[in-house]
Amino acid sequence: MSKIIHRTKTRPVRVGNLTIGGNDELFVQSMTTTKTHDVEATVKEILRLEEAGVQIIRVACPDERAANALGEIKKQINIPLVVDIHFDYKLALIAIEQGVDKIRINPGNIGRREKVEAVVNAAKAKGIPIRIGVNAGSLERKILEKYGYPTADGMVESALHHIKILEDLDFHDIIVSLKASDVNLAVEAYMKAAAAFDYPLHLGITESGTQFAGTVKSSAGLGTLLSAGIGNTLRVSLSADPVEEVKVGRELLKVFGLSSDAATLISCPTCGRIEIDLISIANEVEEYISNIKAPLKVAVLGCAVNGPGEAREADIGIAGARGEGLLFMKGKTVRKVPEETMVEELKIEIDKLAEEYFEK
Ligand code: SF4
Repeated sequence: MSKIIHRTKTRPVRVGNLTIGGNDELFVQSMTTTKTHDVEATVKEILRLEEAGVQIIRVACPDERAANALGEIKKQINIPLVVDIHFDYKLALIAIEQGVDKIRINPGNIGRREKVEAVVNAAKAKGIPIRIGVNAGSLERKILEKYGYPTADGMVESALHHIKILEDLDFHDIIVSLKASDVNLAVEAYMKAAAAFDYPLHLGITESGTQFAGTVKSSAGLGTLLSAGIGNTLRVSLSADPVEEVKVGRELLKVFGLSSDAATLISCPTCGRIEIDLISIANEVEEYISNIKAPLKVAVLGCAVNGPGEAREADIGIAGARGEGLLFMKGKTVRKVPEETMVEELKIEIDKLAEEYFEK
């Protein structure tokens, strides 16, 4: 079963019932696409995302109608609620009053010091963190003039500028993101940020594109960072149903052994040796294990020639043989099963292993 790898050390920050940073866990976040003031539609979408496995949800807050709806939304959902605010400190104050779990606002963009203090004091009083969101596309003019165009150093400098404003007010419950749609730029910025300060990092490749291209782009960027032990929350941004963002995010965590509550499928690409209808079986098993909350590795292989040995790291699997299947565990064949029942038998064995995992 998967083991969580060690992450870069960061300062722990509470967001609702979760601790972001300071440990090995990494959380999947997404953002709603509904009008936030439409409580019913927004809650409906959040519950759908919860079902898909999202752990933190962010909503836009463009106006007072949206801000005033936050308390009601929070009441009806089960995960921490983050609100996204641009510039307007009054909206931030309403959102905090409404009981959100985190606000995303850049203190350097709020304006006069009294306004910044009002937001920081309100966040302190409620014990909620502030996420600083640096975006390569909207760097401060001063920084752009210094570097000529958006650079990783410029992005980190921008983050440090906002961090200093909060630290000077003795506020340290900070999470930082440094998003860019250019993968190399985002990766370099996050790497430099991880070396420059120890606040938890929210990862994202912004405006990454449609479901297919965006998945590839996000996976390339976020994967590089995850493999370096960087990142405490992540969002895969896609021009698609946000459920797809959550699915990709969760899959990425599985790839890097960072998910303690999800099973992974290993399936072969098929070739001329294939003995079973592998593609439909693989899809059926993938669907089945999406509800398994244990970090099991399940393999589905087209034949037994290279099958069980190739999937030695799998906890359990089946390999096709003529008219039957071989059920194997950790690379060793356990028994033969008839082709008609092999998927059902595999499911029963998966359930048993999952139960054993929770009994341990
Ligand atoms: Fe081909 Fe068998 Fe390998 Fe699948 S497991 S790719 S069918 S050799």
